[in-house]
Amino acid sequence: MAEVTLDKIVSLSKRRGFVFQSSEIYGGLNGAYDYGPLGVQLKNNIRDMWWKEMTQIHEDIVGLDASILMHPRVWEASGHVANFSDPMVDCKQCKSRFRTDQIDLSAACPVCGTKDSFTEPRNFNLMFSTHIGAASDAGSLIYLRPETAQGIYTEFKNIVSSSRVKIPFGIAQVGKAFRNEITTRHFIFRSVEFEQMEMQWFCAPGTDDEWFEYWKARRFEFYEKMGIRKSHLRWHQHGKDELAFYAKDAYDIQYLFPMGWQELEGVHNRTDYDLSQHQEFSGKDQTYLDPATNERYIPYVVETSAGLTRNVLMALSDAYEEETLEDGETRTVLRFHPDIAPVTVAVLPLVKKDGIAEAAKELELSLREEFTTFFDLSGAIGRRYRRMDEIGTPYCITVDYQSLEDRTVTLRHRDSMEQVRIGMDEIASAIREANKNYKRVEK
Ligand code: ATP
Repeated sequence: MAEVTLDKIVSLSKRRGFVFQSSEIYGGLNGAYDYGPLGVQLKNNIRDMWWKEMTQIHEDIVGLDASILMHPRVWEASGHVANFSDPMVDCKQCKSRFRTDQIDLSAACPVCGTKDSFTEPRNFNLMFSTHIGAASDAGSLIYLRPETAQGIYTEFKNIVSSSRVKIPFGIAQVGKAFRNEITTRHFIFRSVEFEQMEMQWFCAPGTDDEWFEYWKARRFEFYEKMGIRKSHLRWHQHGKDELAFYAKDAYDIQYLFPMGWQELEGVHNRTDYDLSQHQEFSGKDQTYLDPATNERYIPYVVETSAGLTRNVLMALSDAYEEETLEDGETRTVLRFHPDIAPVTVAVLPLVKKDGIAEAAKELELSLREEFTTFFDLSGAIGRRYRRMDEIGTPYCITVDYQSLEDRTVTLRHRDSMEQVRIGMDEIASAIREANKNYKRVEK
């Protein structure tokens, strides 16, 4: 089977409208991307699946949408102002900048090859700053949030008093985060503007280890449910040098991306660090009175923190396949789970004339309420199938002369390429059934 490279994913993403470089007509902006018609649909589908998993299927998790701009003291309390930095060195010769953990400091500069050319390591804060209001003095300095979690902590008390939630419970949020990453690399894997899907689980001190194990298991299952190959997922425990100073334990779910094993999501035991810090910095009580035991404490937090845009890259990489067919031809196919595929069903009239296009359009309209559909009139039917394979559409329906007589159509399955004749009125239930029973074919 042909190798899946990042170049192939980048090129397909551009060709078919998943992801474009931001401001490309001006030469592009490094580390910033635009999600095209198919990309935004894929991203929204992943987001919706996560949101449903957290707030609908799981009990005791409520949602939040906090603002990107927050009071600057938030980032002092969280430790981001003091600690959120990567040590960097510059090459004195060519001025390239590198993260010290990503290069060998005793070697020559990887860009220009000059020896002994690095400056002393310096800390570089990853937060983007801007100014609020008319004056741009120190007093108006604010940050674009580098993670969504702090919005959850600062609303902890409001949610407890307004939502009748009792510990243990969670708060889930999806939203943009910004980091001035010096080495934006690997396409949308590491960008300066990205989206996170975070859930903070508030629990009683002493129960945190148990909940940590619980959430580790749930999060791994989630990716299997999304149809991601198990062979491409693994755990990585943070060693002492990686562990954030406040964290008790931390594991990453890693995915085998085209460029190797890399972090996809973090599951962290953040202890009572964040709420304690906010209590200290704001002077506002952040304790919880447990009605069951009458004890008052600052809750512990188990965090699940996933990158939504990084999930998009994972979904594309996992789905991508160049398959050699029996006749020797190859097809590029994205084997998305039907629940995340940007288009669920394509309706293709075999020919345009004799009322076939009209019948097909009518069928497509009837499916729109329930599924994302696509109508394609042009080109040979084989080419139209290939176009749908390449964007990962799991089902194609072909309407032909026989359809006008007996209201049957051909339903083609993307993965097996199997075609079955089926009544028009049975299509919706056949698709529902196939979605429910979907299994990824591992080759
Ligand atoms: P890294 O070590 O890769 O910089 P991190 O450990 O700082 O990442 P976290 O702060 O734990 O990452 O963020 C949680 C999740 O947010 C990550 O698992 C990742 O999926 C996503 N994420 C973090 N930074 C970026 C980025 N620059 N671009 C895209 N996604 C990101």
